[in-house]
This record gives sequence, structure tokens and C-alpha cells, in this order.
Amino acid sequence: MSKNETKKINADILVMGAGGSGLVAALTAAEQGARVMVCEKRSVVGGTSNFPSGPFAAESKMQRQKWMSVTCDEVFKIMMEYSHWRADPRLVRTIVNESAQTIDWLQGKGVVFDDVMAMTPGGLPTWHLLEGHGAPMVKALLEKAKEKDVEFYLSHSLKEIIKQKEKITGAIIKDKSDQSISIKSKAVIIASGGYANNKKWIKKYTGLDLGKDLFPHSDLKLTGDGIQKAWNAGAAREGMGVLMLQYGVPGPGVMGTRLTAIARQPYLWINQDGRRFSDEGITANWPFAGNAIARQKNRYAYLMFDENTKKYMEERGFDIGAGPVLPTSRPDNVQALFKNAVAKGNENIFVARSLKAIADKTGIHVNTLIATINEYNSYCAKNHDDLFNKDPKYLQSFKEAPFYVMRIFLRFLGTLGGIKINEKTEVLSNDQNIIPGLYAAGNDAGGMYVGSYDLWIPGGALGFALNSGRIAGKSAAEYCLG
Ligand SMILES: Cc1cc2nc3c(=O)[nH]c(=O)nc-3n(C[C@H](O)[C@H](O)[C@H](O)COP(=O)(O)OP(=O)(O)OC[C@H]3O[C@@H](n4cnc5c(N)ncnc54)[C@H](O)[C@@H]3O)c2cc1C
Repeated sequence: MSKNETKKINADILVMGAGGSGLVAALTAAEQGARVMVCEKRSVVGGTSNFPSGPFAAESKMQRQKWMSVTCDEVFKIMMEYSHWRADPRLVRTIVNESAQTIDWLQGKGVVFDDVMAMTPGGLPTWHLLEGHGAPMVKALLEKAKEKDVEFYLSHSLKEIIKQKEKITGAIIKDKSDQSISIKSKAVIIASGGYANNKKWIKKYTGLDLGKDLFPHSDLKLTGDGIQKAWNAGAAREGMGVLMLQYGVPGPGVMGTRLTAIARQPYLWINQDGRRFSDEGITANWPFAGNAIARQKNRYAYLMFDENTKKYMEERGFDIGAGPVLPTSRPDNVQALFKNAVAKGNENIFVARSLKAIADKTGIHVNTLIATINEYNSYCAKNHDDLFNKDPKYLQSFKEAPFYVMRIFLRFLGTLGGIKINEKTEVLSNDQNIIPGLYAAGNDAGGMYVGSYDLWIPGGALGFALNSGRIAGKSAAEYCLG
């Protein structure tokens, strides 16, 4: 075929993106008897869904076996109140009600779950932990989808959705050498994973600068392609600017080491003005912590602890978990971890012998720093934080050199929202009409999260991706097959 000739393919449903939501949508639709094809921009499948620890569910068999009472009613209520009822209640209810069946369905595909737990104090145990994280789930879904004759076009990017007389009639996809394929399909499911790597959009919708004051977990080239194509096809916007915001220490020698969990501990936080700005106990609820740091000058802060706290950490373990690193896990040699990161050239981490040295290194005014630390130590001495009411069990004084300092920046795991959908994942236009044949799922779809990600119900993002994917697959198959 010559370069300019366009290949043509017929399918019932085209799925854009072979991440968690796309794979689930494709397999579900194929199970209903639809002819499904998937185009995936990268040469490998799974996208962000290779990384997560697990999705949420309520009233699952695993919870019931462990006598965990987590009802759909209470999960729905918490989610809606968390968003101040600005989330879409029908969508949230549908996702919550579907969640236990989705765990069963995944297990039926060979996906293995290790455990179910909460992620933060006061949160519900809704987090269903996948054996080996997301990658084995992705592998199992891919295999099952292929068994159901789903066709995969890797390294093919969706470029345009075709709409005729208000209905979706197909799409144009292109391979890396710009060769087009014209897809004739009755439905398109958008599942392209959001816009975490789109510098312009992140700036426009959050005011933050990617790579400068906000760091993505990875660069999977998630640029909001699906969101833009859906908007071009008349979709309304919903949920732009919502991030799975947390924080971390950028630079070499940190990722993959216990330093990431050390940065999560509820030790002293000071901003560039030398002042405390938060109850540091909120580190356990990382979206809260991200929000608190986002308010600070330059959008970064310092986490500090002294030699006594270091010894406490090495002997007693972490107070707060970090993803799969559980509270009580112990870092072996904190000093060596710091030394190694410094040796690798990480400028966001250092050990100092005096407060003056901290001030010199950070540019914080030394007198303000001393005043803040004296005040904090006085709260530790009387076991009450008069300023932010930090839990007394986390009040550890800052006195004994050497001092360990980490500069903590905003980090995020993905974007949450973009396209307005209803509870069937049908895409809605600005005047709230359904665009026949167009569906959206996962991080591309809005309506679930408003403002901040919610750790009271952990596993919500992947949970939303998988459940909205299943609903999209079912809805699109029903639409195509009648
Ligand atoms: C480190 C990490 C840990 C996490 N842990 C958890 C957790 O424990 N629990 C939880 O609930 N959530 C977690 N999350 C979030 C969760 O992983 C995501 O919300 C979820 O995986 C998103 O799924 P998705 O299908 O929307 O996107 P993805 O899985 O990213 O899939 C999108 C796919 O679309 C493809 N694509 C993009 N553009 C195009 C195009 N133009 N044409 C064709 N294909 C395209 C991409 O290449 C990608 O493969 C975590 C995220 C990270 C980064």
C-alpha cells in the first residue's frame, strides 16, 4: 500500500488506549459479542495501569470474608460529601455499586488480589491489593482480550473521531510513520489516560509548572489526546485541573529507596519563609499534604528531623506507610540513604550539623528558623501543638544534631477528569445531550472527583478506571448490538 493510500477497517467498537480502562472496556464488549479493536499509542500496553497497588471496592467478598463492614451506602455518602456534592451522584453510585462485581470479574480473568486494607488513618479498608501491582492484571486482561479476538493496533494513535449527523461513525488512527487507517465503527470508547505529561494543559488548568514545581510519576506521553478529540466531537468538559496530588523528593537516589517512605513521615515541615504551615500528621493523607504544599512560596517545603528521630525511625519503624510500605517497616541505615542520594548529586537532600548550616543551605532566615524550632520544641515538651493541633504521638522534638533535611516538591500520579459522561459512560455534549456512539472511561472522564483525590476511599482512581471501563464496554456493546 502506498504512503497516501488509506487502509480501511470495520469494527463495532474502537477503543482508544490499552491501559486499565481500555483493556477492561474492550474485553467486556467482546464478551458481549461485539467486534472490538484497540489502538494504543505506545508500543506496549498497560499505560499507568501497570503501576497501581489496587482498586477500591465496597461489599466485596474479600471484605466480607474478613468481617470488614464497608457498605456501598457509606462509601457513596463519603465520596459525595468529600466533593461537597459537586461530583455526579448517579455516576458515583453506579461505580460504587459495580465495584464488588468488578473484583469478582477480574478474579475470573485470573487477576490475583493479595489483601484488602485502608490507606490512611480514618479511611475505609476499600483498597484491594493486586499481587505484583498492576502489570500482572494488565497481562491477564490482554491475554483474555486476545482470546476473545480483540484486535490490537500498537504504536497507533487515534487522530480524529468521525461524527456524521450527530452520530459517531468511526475514527482515523495513524501509525508512527503517519500511515492512516480509517476505522468504520459504530462506537468509540475514549480511554487515553488523561494529560499528566501535557505541560501546557497542566499550566492552564492547575497553574503549576511541570518539571519545575510539579513532578509526574513518569512520562508516558499522556497528553490528553482523547480528551481533546472528544471535545472536538462536541463533548462537554468536566473535572479539568483535578490531580492525584502528593509530594516527594525529586532527583537521583530517592525513587525505589526507603527515602520515599521517610519523606512521608510526620516530622517537622518548614516553608521557605522558615515557618510551619501544616499539621504534619496529614502526610498520611497525601492529597491533603499536596494541597498544603501547593499553597507555599515556590510550591515546595522542607521536611526535617534530628538524630533522635532518626534513631526512633530505625528502631521503631515508620509511623506512616507509603503505598505498599507499611507502618512499622524500618529503614536500615538512614544516614547511608542520605549519603548515597547526596553522592548521586541530589541537591534536595542533605545532612547538617547546625541550624545555621540549614539556614545557609536553604536560604531560610536563620532567626526565623530558630524561632520556629524553639516554638515547635515547646509544643513537643508540653505534648500539645498549639498552632495546628498535630497528633501528640507525632510530636518529636528537633534538637540533636546531625539534622536531616529533604526538600519536598509536589508530585502527582495522574489527572482525573476532562470529558463529561453520564452513569452509562455515554459522553454528553454541552447541552447535556448524549453523543450517540461516544463513550469515555478512566482518567479521561470527569464526574467522580472534584478538587482533590480522596484517600478515605483508597483505590478510587484505578477503581474508577476499571469500573467505568466495564460500564463503557457494556454500554457500547448494547448500543452496537441492540
Ligand atoms: C505509581 C502509581 C501508583 C498508583 N497507585 C494507585 C492505586 O494503588 N490505586 C488507585 O486507585 N490508583 C492508583 N494510581 C492511579 C491509577 O493507576 C490510574 O488512575 C489508572 O491506572 C488510569 O487508568 P486509565 O485506563 O485511565 O489510563 P492508562 O492506564 O494510563 O491508559 C491510557 C492508555 O492510553 C494510551 N493513549 C494515550 N494517548 C493515546 C492515543 N492518542 N491513541 C491511542 N492510545 C493512547 C496510553 O499510552 C495508555 O496506554 C496510581 C498511579 C501511579 C502512577
